Amino acid sequence: MERTYIMVKPDGVQRRLVGEIIRRFETRGLKLVALKMVTPTREIAEKHYAAHKERPFFGELVDFVTSGPVVAMVWEGTEAIKLSRSMIGATKPLEALSGTIRGDYTTELQTNLVHGSDAPEAATEEIALWFTPQELTA
Ligand code: UDP
Ligand code: MG
Repeated sequence: MERTYIMVKPDGVQRRLVGEIIRRFETRGLKLVALKMVTPTREIAEKHYAAHKERPFFGELVDFVTSGPVVAMVWEGTEAIKLSRSMIGATKPLEALSGTIRGDYTTELQTNLVHGSDAPEAATEEIALWFTPQELTA
């Protein structure tokens, strides 16, 4: 069993895709263990995307992710990290296949609806960044 941090980004909330995204994770068989809606501060967004600090798109990415409410979640299941990434789809729009969330609902590189942790260490850090231990159900 593994846990991963999944976040519907501001564009997903604005486009009314929260239910559709949650439905996909639920019907696949993952278990929802934490969920909240929050407008991220710059501090938390910069920490969340710290790995990209030196990239040219970092400032715009932080602007985007702090532009409105997001839905922060923790999902649990077998190989939850890789499974979620495969359900989300590739970062590059032309590589995001139909049947994936990005492949079905966006053509854009930045406004790509959803974030998913990419490795166990990242998942642990991101879950601790966005949630207190008390907010995680057993
Ligand atoms: N992003 C961007 N420009 C780029 C690459 C990424 O705006 O050239 C954004 C996009 O929203 C992406 C996020 O930065 O989801 C984090 O990038 P990463 O490479 O970690 O992609 P992900 O793990 O989300 O697929
Ligand atoms: Mg990433």
